Amino acid sequence: MPELPEVETVRRTLERLAAGKTIRRVDVRLARIVRRPAEPEAFARALEGLTIRAVQRRGKFLKFDLEQLVLLSHLRMEGRYGLYREGDELEPHTHVVFHFTDGTELRYRDVRQFGTMDLYKPGEEEREGPLAKLGLEPLEDAFTEAAFRAAVAGRKTKIKPLLLNQECVVGLGNIYVDEALHAAGIHPERNADALSRAELGRLYEAIRSTLRAAVEAGGSSVKSYVNGQGEQGSYQFALKAYGREGEPCAACGGEIVKFVVGGRGTHICPACQPLKAKRRKHK
Ligand code: ZN
Repeated sequence: MPELPEVETVRRTLERLAAGKTIRRVDVRLARIVRRPAEPEAFARALEGLTIRAVQRRGKFLKFDLEQLVLLSHLRMEGRYGLYREGDELEPHTHVVFHFTDGTELRYRDVRQFGTMDLYKPGEEEREGPLAKLGLEPLEDAFTEAAFRAAVAGRKTKIKPLLLNQECVVGLGNIYVDEALHAAGIHPERNADALSRAELGRLYEAIRSTLRAAVEAGGSSVKSYVNGQGEQGSYQFALKAYGREGEPCAACGGEIVKFVVGGRGTHICPACQPLKAKRRKHK
């Protein structure tokens, strides 16, 4: 599933390819992708004649700013966008086509069909839509160490599931949580409220630097993920924990192991990420 760096990469590509274009007509070829309004015909009609002003992102949601409306698109497992010319052969699993007035079209393909599209009036999506409960945006200025500590404070839950929960910090999924915890030297099953101030500081820095580097690399192309224009990201070559079980830890040479935390495959270096916090000896 694409995480923040992958969705941000898609956003940048879409902004370059689709911003400024005016929608002439929309074909909804698979009704289940469109959730709001419930009738695909109403969805298509509402978008006719509108211009894409900008493509933004909130957490793992893409947000098309159409001035009078906001289109929220979640790619889930394998949703992807591509820009085509009218008359280009329709590829399999093309579920929604946005025809533009300039003879190009934006096509949404999704083999697994888990992706979603919702239309809201501007501002409504923040108040009552799926964005209402979302937590801190980790690459924005408002994500300070103090804000992160406050979001984690008193949470009697394991740190990995807490970071996966989009109500605390958004955009982190299985890959980048494993990477950030490895970089910070924190075991994924440590309780959030048992982490020291220094550990939370390290984790905060690790989340930011990991996500920044991954955005810079165009995201990770793990399994079938590619960005909006079929380009592969390269961060998978920089991963230090995720998917590296049996390989040596880049920090200490120990072996990366894989086990399950909260139902998710989890990769750690047991030497760098001890379950028991090391007690500092006081003299
Ligand atoms: Zn290690």
